[in-house]
Amino acid sequence: MEHLKISCAQRVIFECITLQDSESVDLAMSLGRVLSENIFANRDLPPYDVSAMDGFAVRSADLFNLPATLVIIEDIKAGDMSTLTVGRGQCARIMTGAPMPRGADAVIRVEDTREISHDTVQITIAVKACHDVRPQGENMREGDVVLTKGTEITPGVIGVLATVKAAKFSVYRRPRVAILSTGNELEAIGDPVNPNKIPDSNTYALMAQVQALGITPAMLGIARDDPAELEQFLKIGLEYDVLLVSGGTSVGVHDYVRPTIEGLGVEMKFWRVAIKPGHPLAFGKTDKTFVFGLPGNPVSSMVCFEEFVAPALRRMMGNTKQYRRTVTARLAHAVKMRPGRTEFVRVQLSADDAGYIASSTGTQSSGVLLSMARADGLLVLPSACSGFEAGAQVTVQLLDGTVFQECPGFKE
Ligand code: AMP
Ligand code: MG
Repeated sequence: MEHLKISCAQRVIFECITLQDSESVDLAMSLGRVLSENIFANRDLPPYDVSAMDGFAVRSADLFNLPATLVIIEDIKAGDMSTLTVGRGQCARIMTGAPMPRGADAVIRVEDTREISHDTVQITIAVKACHDVRPQGENMREGDVVLTKGTEITPGVIGVLATVKAAKFSVYRRPRVAILSTGNELEAIGDPVNPNKIPDSNTYALMAQVQALGITPAMLGIARDDPAELEQFLKIGLEYDVLLVSGGTSVGVHDYVRPTIEGLGVEMKFWRVAIKPGHPLAFGKTDKTFVFGLPGNPVSSMVCFEEFVAPALRRMMGNTKQYRRTVTARLAHAVKMRPGRTEFVRVQLSADDAGYIASSTGTQSSGVLLSMARADGLLVLPSACSGFEAGAQVTVQLLDGTVFQECPGFKE
């Protein structure tokens, strides 16, 4: 059976998935969402010329002979509107953010002045017009597009939205995601411990990976390796926008996911990807659901989620950056591999003056989930190579954080 290259599989997935509809969201609940509309400035900001400093609003032409002694005609605080006009030999005491009075064209900060009496001040430096004045509209002009459709809402973006009084706006809807584990050997978290069984960890690791993208998934539970039971569960899963099924996608005689899922009308696009861990990765669709068949091995399931499911979910939510951030690191020790599939090695990262250092989290068996639990990132070994020496420069995909990038950033 054909093993797709990672990039081919990603392309097939991206060609199938569709952008979610829009919904309205409150500003306070919008962190991490993606705008599905352009946002405009509702006024000029600042709305008039304002002082950038605490100091004195002056006429720059008055400062040719220093020190210049000026008469203070008023105090202007932020929020005040000045009523007087600053004439020759005059100035106004002004606070940061307060509107410039008529007649004045520059601000002298307090540190460059000496107050002689309550209403006279000596200015000790000369400045040009506009010095320490923030002009009207410097920040934004009424009618400007300040944020474009597709912008991911970060704390800085929230600040801009609040600035333009966008209390509600439209964002892409989050997909509804269902998670299903399959296997006779699986023991649910609430079941008593049975030494012959395998605890179901995939449901929860996948749950957390979905949650990390801001989505609350539905956990459907465990389906036994029985076509009728599997069909029942899969039917429920096919009511969602995205269904993640783990286990049962290999070619074992009790791996019923493939025939059952195809029997339910899911159009499968591929069943194998040239990736390690995780090659039994499947993807298909109905007219309303995208289905990922993830490997049962706990590490494989998580790695496949990161490489294929997370980018798909992010794209559905309108994110233009889908891929985990990659960094360059040097290897603390040699790593070996058999060429053929792109390998993802779980590593910890430390750093010194020369940058990041990557070291393996230990045994890389796809059943050893602790290798994932301890990992900061996935070291990518391109499929054509047979390993790297200690000290080699390698690419590591970070497993944590909210910063993503537009391209995968590694050679497969
Ligand atoms: P499968 O893909 O069904 O052949 O499963 C491969 C391996 O992953 C087997 O050792 C399973 O016991 C294990 N496995 C499958 N599903 C889960 C799960 N939900 N949690 C933990 N291990 C699993
Ligand atoms: Mg199984």
